[in-house]
Amino acid sequence: MKDIRYPENSDLRQLLRFSAKEGLIWLGEHRMVLLHTAALSELRKELIASVGSEQARRILTRMGFASGLRDAELARKIRGGGSLADMFVVGPQLHMLEGCVEVEPVRLDIDEDARSFYGEFLWHQSWEAEVHVQQFGEVDHPVCWMMIGYASGYTTAFTGRFILFREVECAAMGAGQCRIVGKPAEEWPDAHELIPYFEPDSIVGRLLELREEVEAMRRSIVCPAAMPSLIGASSGFRQAYELVTKAAATNVSVLLLGETGVGKERFARALHELSARKDAPFVAVNCAALPDELIESELFGVERGAFTGADASRAGKFERADGGTLFLDEVGELPLPAQAKLLRVLQEGEIERLGDERTRKINVRLVAATNVDLQQASPTDASGATCSTASTSIR
Ligand SMILES: [Zn+2]
Repeated sequence: MKDIRYPENSDLRQLLRFSAKEGLIWLGEHRMVLLHTAALSELRKELIASVGSEQARRILTRMGFASGLRDAELARKIRGGGSLADMFVVGPQLHMLEGCVEVEPVRLDIDEDARSFYGEFLWHQSWEAEVHVQQFGEVDHPVCWMMIGYASGYTTAFTGRFILFREVECAAMGAGQCRIVGKPAEEWPDAHELIPYFEPDSIVGRLLELREEVEAMRRSIVCPAAMPSLIGASSGFRQAYELVTKAAATNVSVLLLGETGVGKERFARALHELSARKDAPFVAVNCAALPDELIESELFGVERGAFTGADASRAGKFERADGGTLFLDEVGELPLPAQAKLLRVLQEGEIERLGDERTRKINVRLVAATNVDLQQASPTDASGATCSTASTSIR
């Protein structure tokens, strides 16, 4: 159809009745209200701020769609005797009468028998583009969401087929006007992206989905989640952190060097949390805090009667850490006999409780720490912590 001309709109204007006394405005049989575009502008702004552009677009599109549906009821009723095109343009003419926009037809191919539809219109003075630019300035995407909803709702009700309009240009993007194109939804290659704006959606449901996504992401980002108390940005910290991460994937024993207070135990815990052993125990022992005579029984356990006062068998720290990680702080404070015993444990992967005849297999990763030997420390290490891995592992 070429040269679409609007019929005189007096038939439509007659539909509009004001009953000021009763506080009523009618368009045919539909009650209307006069709203300030400034108020609608505030509503749009609030919606965008509170639920985001995507949800705001969806809500406004659906609102416009509902309005288009109502106006389509009038078309055949009012112009039932006219041509199909005259009936159809009731929509654009009402849209104008309602103060939304000036609609200039570009092309309208509508065939009821073939059930085909193609419509292209220019929109001048779109109220929606105008208020959007007032609130947000020029943007890089179309914003006449409510009006696109209207065009789609109207045409869908008129043709009995889901017709989807979209803006191919919008005045809010700096174009002089908006240009809209409508065709059956399935004829848009990206219909799956457009259709959701016409569908109901539970924001609460979406929030719950998002929360689940966040939880899943938290679980997948191992480092920050596993090392909540480890924060640092110095190059020394990062180097140490990298070494810890590397060592975590293996079973090697680890020696942490650093002055008191640089967070060696935190590194040890992080190493444990990052490793496959994280669900097994992490046992920390400060060797400097134990009296020499108790250190061996603490570490390796004791059998009843092994010495005076040993009136019950007791597992040592190694056994308690079985499957997990044993952290020996201030390992340099261990008496020599205990150090020799420790070496054997490292080499053989088994321990012997004091006073026991048999040996026990243990599976422990040993992380030891000691005060830094200043000559070995990295010179510009802000965190003060370094990390080295020993070659022996306990399996
Ligand atoms: Zn627009």
